[in-house]
Amino acid sequence: RSPIRSPIRSPIRKSIRKNMKEKLHKMDGSIELDYDKCIGCTMCIRRCDEIGVCYLRMNKEGEKQHADYKTESESDCIYCGQCTLKCPVDAIREQSQVNKLDELLQNNTDEKVIIAQMAPSVRASIGEEFGLKPGVNLTNRMYTALRQLGFDKIFDINMGADITTYTEAVELAERIKEGGVLPMFTSCCPAWVKYAEFYHPEILPHLTTARSPHIHSGGAYKTFYAFKEHIDPKNIIVVSFVPCTAKKYEATLEKFNIKGISPVDVVLTTRELADLLKKRKINPVDMKPSEVDSYGVYSGAAAIYGATGGVMESALRSAHYFLTGKELKDFKFEEVRGMDGVKKATVEVGDRKLNVAVVTEPRHAALLIEEVKKNPNAYDYIEVMSCPGGCVGGGGQPIPSNNSIIDERRKALYTLDDKLSIRKAHLNPVVKEFFEEYLDKLPEEEKASIIHTSFRKREKGE
Ligand code: SF4
Repeated sequence: RSPIRSPIRSPIRKSIRKNMKEKLHKMDGSIELDYDKCIGCTMCIRRCDEIGVCYLRMNKEGEKQHADYKTESESDCIYCGQCTLKCPVDAIREQSQVNKLDELLQNNTDEKVIIAQMAPSVRASIGEEFGLKPGVNLTNRMYTALRQLGFDKIFDINMGADITTYTEAVELAERIKEGGVLPMFTSCCPAWVKYAEFYHPEILPHLTTARSPHIHSGGAYKTFYAFKEHIDPKNIIVVSFVPCTAKKYEATLEKFNIKGISPVDVVLTTRELADLLKKRKINPVDMKPSEVDSYGVYSGAAAIYGATGGVMESALRSAHYFLTGKELKDFKFEEVRGMDGVKKATVEVGDRKLNVAVVTEPRHAALLIEEVKKNPNAYDYIEVMSCPGGCVGGGGQPIPSNNSIIDERRKALYTLDDKLSIRKAHLNPVVKEFFEEYLDKLPEEEKASIIHTSFRKREKGE
């Protein structure tokens, strides 16, 4: 692979684009498979099978053997992008928004407020694109680099992760107290949600109705921030930088629109962000550290969101408060940490013992769903992420990405948690104000349209 990836290799891409109809298969707005570039090595097919989706196949018809997709109605892409990490020739890759964002920033006018927000795991991996070893935390240098790209405001998806935790922990506490549907499953991974909606719709009542972090924070900017700063939400453009190809698809879902406005406008992966920085000759490693703008404040609970088990640990830290009214003193849940694809534990929350499970990859989720169907009382709370190691191993992360690299990125997030003064989502002052001074004063329906979501069975290609 070239250190500068496809968007900059425009002569090749232009010739492909002319024949896009026959040459490219697009998986919604997330990934694309370029038949011309494919060398038929089967790496992507094997990865798709390994994680338990099995959407790809070899096409042996015609002159050239190449990877292709299955046309059968019982198989569909979940957009996780694990295939893109394996392709040696960039034939299966994210659908690039590098040029779209570059033009947007170059033509920025005073009328528009363009906001950048970076996901928890991007800060621990983007350095790899600039020669650093995995797990170097570039948070504050990246804020400066994003300013140099031309953004008006630098916020952080970690703030959105605190909103997600708050919403999800309240829901978990309510389900436990009021006898709601348990076990509750997390739903912040859009590839897991697509998997559940397509392959296991029977499990949907178990998914938390909390939106995902970048959708939550995007919605908060276009409601709460817009209200406080007297900005027309139509003039706010939100750009997410994520480790994930599925989040490109997620951001296009109309169910998230608030009064007809999408919370997030543009989504780039970690690799695309690196491409844009290289194109503009901005090296974040050389930047002076700077601070996030006011609405980007976050807790340690948000910092660990990018690691498998992190979402559960964040929610448990806050659920304890919502269940008991007391702050948890020993708030590290070591039992749910680590790289294992399946972790099971019993944790104490107040005077309750909760049975929890944390899994990555659809193949493990499928086994757990079967276990829940056979024994509905076995668990209270389950975290599912599609990618190995969680989002630090996401399909949009720097290449190569293997378990030891992913583990270094993962550890960097726990180190960041240890360094922060606020460790629980419900203690984040911006999030507290968002809920107590803004959301709680809105009619229930309007509040729900900003922080909750719903799920439905999906057919192939939906
Ligand atoms: Fe995206 Fe994270 Fe889910 Fe992977 S685990 S598909 S990176 S949200």
